[in-house]
Amino acid sequence: MYSQERINAYLNSLERPQNPALEKIRQQALAEGVPIIRPAVQSLLQFFMKLSRPESILEVGTAVGYSALCMREACGESCHIVTIEKDAERIAKARENFAAFGAQDQIRLLEGDAADRLRELPDGVFSFIFMDAAKGQYLAFLPEVCRVLAPGGMIFSDNVMQEGEVMDSRFAVPRRDRTIHSRMRRYLYVLKHTEGLTTSVLPLGDGVAVTVKEGESVRLMSAESPEKEAGSAAARDDGRESAPGADSCGIHSGAVAAGNAAIQKDTAGGKNDGE
Ligand code: SAM
Repeated sequence: MYSQERINAYLNSLERPQNPALEKIRQQALAEGVPIIRPAVQSLLQFFMKLSRPESILEVGTAVGYSALCMREACGESCHIVTIEKDAERIAKARENFAAFGAQDQIRLLEGDAADRLRELPDGVFSFIFMDAAKGQYLAFLPEVCRVLAPGGMIFSDNVMQEGEVMDSRFAVPRRDRTIHSRMRRYLYVLKHTEGLTTSVLPLGDGVAVTVKEGESVRLMSAESPEKEAGSAAARDDGRESAPGADSCGIHSGAVAAGNAAIQKDTAGGKNDGE
């Protein structure tokens, strides 16, 4: 079998050179240790942009604006991008980068925590959502993300494999990483088993989940007690989760509150989940 590292190195090597101005931002971000989208995943993201031509895009996790500029490049001047970031230094750099590309009117940067900013956005307005913020918060963001996503729209969630750790038993994962591990397993389970969503998980880069909202209605599974459910399920070694609580709920149920409460509880350090 090929190692994931070898696959990624090969796929990245196939990428053709990109716009030098974008490449400069990428290099600068890498030199400064800012986490940005990997080349093969960028290529997939741009592929979906060209395939679906979304007019209205939401990104959760701007960093310095690299991926927002990549999406803009792929979908053309007519699309509008809203992107959310909470880190002040990165916000300043992203604004600088958007201005350098003359994109400040096309890309709207919302400052602050995505949990707050998402709640302020109207229903069903985005046809494409790129999830790329703290991985342990994807599950808590999901009800609002489903609410603001238009029927037929797509969610593109990056880094869902957590360098492969997501496949491991909970007990094989360092204690400090178990909360993120449980939440990501639960997130993938909910994406795969929620009525009204269709999801495929791709082992590209650090793992990507692509999800389509089929129609108006999404009956999100409850995120209540995510750690308990995911924890007991994740104790299995075979990568499958046991059936979660049978109840499903509307997207405005207690899911957000439960997810947020779980985030507040997560003070144990562990994997750097800010990115
Ligand atoms: N999408 C960017 C790219 O590829 O160029 C990279 C984003 S980086 C992986 C994740 C970013 O999400 C970080 O800059 C981090 O500060 C931000 N972030 C993490 N949690 C957040 C939250 N709850 N609200 C807003 N931003 C958040």
